[in-house]
Amino acid sequence: MMRRLPLLVLLISGTCVVLGQRPHKPEWSEREFVGQLEDLRQPRADDEIDQSYRLPTDTVPTHYTIRLHTNLHTGARAFTGAVDIHLDVIVPTGHITVHNRDLTIVSAALFAKQDDGLLVEFGFPEYGYDSRTEQLTFHAGQQLPLGSYVLTIEYTGLLQTSSNSGFFLKSYVNDEDERRYVGTTQFESTNARMAFPCYDEPLLKATHTLWITHSADYSAVSNMPAEAVEEAAGHEGFVTTKFGPTPKMSTYLLAFGVSDFAVIEDGQQQLYARPNAIHEAQFGLEAGVKILDALSEYTYVSYYDYMPKLSQMAIPDRGGGAMENWGLVKYAETGLLFNPSRNTYRTRKGIAVVIAHELAHQWFGDLVGPHWWSYIWLNEGFANLYGYIGADLAYPEERYWDLYAVENVHNAFGPDSSDTIRPMTQDATTPSGISGLFDSIAYDKSGSVINMFRTVLGDDNFRAGLKIYLTNRQLDGAVADDLYAGLQAAIDGKEVLPEGVTVKLLMDSWTTQPGYPVLNVRRNYDDGSVIVSQERFYSDKRVPNDNIWYIPYSFASASDPSFDDLSSFHWLAQKAERIAETGAAADDWLIFNKQQTGYYRVNYDAHNWLLIAQALQKDPSAIHRFNRAQLINDAFNLARADRHDMALALDLLTYLANETEYAPWAAANGVLTYFYDKLRGTAHYHDFIVYVDALVGKVFDGLGEFVAVPEDEPLLQKYLKQLITTWACRVGYTECLRQTSEALNTAVETNTPVHPDVQYVVYCYGLKGASDDVYRWLFNQMITSKNEAERQLLIDTLGCAQDREQLISLLSVAIGGNSELDSILSGERSRIVSSIYSAGRVGVEALFQALSNPEYAQEFVNRLGQGALNSVVSNAASRTNNEAELEQLENFLAALGDAVSADTVDAAMRTISTKEAWFKSYEGVRSTTYFADFSN
Ligand SMILES: [Zn+2]
Repeated sequence: MMRRLPLLVLLISGTCVVLGQRPHKPEWSEREFVGQLEDLRQPRADDEIDQSYRLPTDTVPTHYTIRLHTNLHTGARAFTGAVDIHLDVIVPTGHITVHNRDLTIVSAALFAKQDDGLLVEFGFPEYGYDSRTEQLTFHAGQQLPLGSYVLTIEYTGLLQTSSNSGFFLKSYVNDEDERRYVGTTQFESTNARMAFPCYDEPLLKATHTLWITHSADYSAVSNMPAEAVEEAAGHEGFVTTKFGPTPKMSTYLLAFGVSDFAVIEDGQQQLYARPNAIHEAQFGLEAGVKILDALSEYTYVSYYDYMPKLSQMAIPDRGGGAMENWGLVKYAETGLLFNPSRNTYRTRKGIAVVIAHELAHQWFGDLVGPHWWSYIWLNEGFANLYGYIGADLAYPEERYWDLYAVENVHNAFGPDSSDTIRPMTQDATTPSGISGLFDSIAYDKSGSVINMFRTVLGDDNFRAGLKIYLTNRQLDGAVADDLYAGLQAAIDGKEVLPEGVTVKLLMDSWTTQPGYPVLNVRRNYDDGSVIVSQERFYSDKRVPNDNIWYIPYSFASASDPSFDDLSSFHWLAQKAERIAETGAAADDWLIFNKQQTGYYRVNYDAHNWLLIAQALQKDPSAIHRFNRAQLINDAFNLARADRHDMALALDLLTYLANETEYAPWAAANGVLTYFYDKLRGTAHYHDFIVYVDALVGKVFDGLGEFVAVPEDEPLLQKYLKQLITTWACRVGYTECLRQTSEALNTAVETNTPVHPDVQYVVYCYGLKGASDDVYRWLFNQMITSKNEAERQLLIDTLGCAQDREQLISLLSVAIGGNSELDSILSGERSRIVSSIYSAGRVGVEALFQALSNPEYAQEFVNRLGQGALNSVVSNAASRTNNEAELEQLENFLAALGDAVSADTVDAAMRTISTKEAWFKSYEGVRSTTYFADFSN
């Protein structure tokens, strides 16, 4: 037990609850859910995948009637349920197999349905359960003839409290200081079976009728509107909410919620949130209405032709994530609630994009679902892309589309450069294997590849093709060929593609093989010809390979800078070919992949790179901003893969002194962060800072009084400002630190928070040298806030403190077990820890100091789990950059002793040797030499 007078005293009391942990995710990259960590296996060939996890195909469901009874308003986890599964026997069988996870079966009965609809009892079937496959098999005792049956099952279950899956329980504290409970669901991908026994596979679609019996003080919502709310016979104080039947849909899309939430409405849309946050719901409702209308128009398929309403619901204490249940979309509060006086432009953008993502799923996923999880890219790829397009259609003035490539295409390139990465279409059958398919390939790569074909086919043709696809496969499942057929039908006879080439041929080359290509462009400056060739791109090596992608390409040149013309493409359909004439003069630069709509990298001969770098120095605007971002990202990653000289990439970046668009800066941020992580604390750091200064200085000066936020400041300017000022303050610009420190002190003196859009920079860097009083003020801003996104941002800034004692006090809050810590939400504790080691060296040292005390370390593990302590060790190792820091780490590991495993220590030491080895690698020597030459 650590005995110290706490710096941060909490005055809020209540009871302690058991809390789960969630990885710290940045606010702008939410996923429906995080892939399970245990699933780190390599993807396997389809024939090695265990098909015994799949249900037998001799019976199929047609309808479910589900009746649930819950006391969750008391915080009770136990619930009871009964389900009538209407099914057809399509191949005579004696067995009916459905899924179940953790539900206790009380009784079961089987009925045959006669032609007149009458049910004839077939008796009470025996059943057995296979916990490996989660299959519950009923044995009828005889062969069941073809026909319709009803299997009735009564069961009991428990609401989940330590995971956000299945039917789970959340809570919040209302304005009367009472704890109120929220029962909610997350069934994708294999969790419907945690709420009712069912055929839990996406293609086995059925209609669903749901009745929920719950406290009369609470209300229930589901995919469909409630048809009746009736007193529950025999249960005083309870009512039964009866929902109308859903359209035919997958089990994973069923959703419901039981709460005392408030609602706001606009037409056929509703938004549900806890009553003391409903005032933050206006933007989410407005965006929902605008985006659903925009997507209905875009797809030519009206949402309301299939569903009578759309509800959105904000789940408290869910951390992050959202789920596209048909007619009832659920979000973490951070993804739906926006308070203009408390939340930032990033929160607002995140909400707009996540709403558009989930609403795009109403077509791509809900109306037409994947035949099997192998085609999850048909859901997530479209939702990834139309998240940005939908938000852009609804709010064109925000220019959300500018963020697409830097947040998705570049993001996909990272993992997709690995030689063990999976292709877009990939089978899996186990629950953890299926969950693992929700990765950057399903989202970022698939969205990027779909966008490439949208551009190549033309948006009008693409929309027409989508309409055919959606209409042909409505209320059913789809495979990739169904998409190709729709797109093909839309372009037949239009000469969009070269003769004899089909959409299937082209798209299969991108969806069925892993990785992506680099297009090599070698110019002949004498005759104006070019040789283009392709190779699979790996992040850190060159390996001969036979892969061929059908690569659409187009190019712009100094004399014909046609970046805005995306109407025509050539195709590279073999390893290499010669382009006889480009029209570019010998001293013209040439740039391929206009606006980076193609999902591939481009490398040039050194002279063309030089021409490009010169053009950027002279006038950045001569080259499209998306291509400027591409050039930065490609130049750096091609150098890392040893495909050209790192000095060339670093030289190219120096044009940024005159760059004022966000997209290229976002690309550059990745490069600077890479070197910062390696060079901070080393003898090379000063040289690097000189380089950063040369890039950032002029742009920073141009920002003037950046803590002021003009009313009409454009969104992308806000992004740029945060990025530039973060670098300026990080490398110690006096003016940056002066403005942040003054703004923070003024905020404390007047007890008025600074504008949310500059809060991160002002608070994070203003804390440098801040007094305990100032730190306490900031902490109180966090702990008294009832807005989850604001709390997350403030936690991140609290970790920026430069005073070890302040940070140790913050850490004590994260691991404190006292009743007054009830106001810390699950997920916030681990976020506090990661904010401490992420923000700077002082945080790492504060963790070393506190956790070197064995009792304190034990408390830390008791509260946050062993994984959190392992994570401190690995993060400290990756932030160890010199001898003194290494010694601190070694002392820390010695103090921890058996508190961490030998494996964890070994992994940390491997990280250290890799970091040391980098300085002796070609890339390390080349980069540090470059920075040294630059600073001299
Ligand atoms: Zn999604």
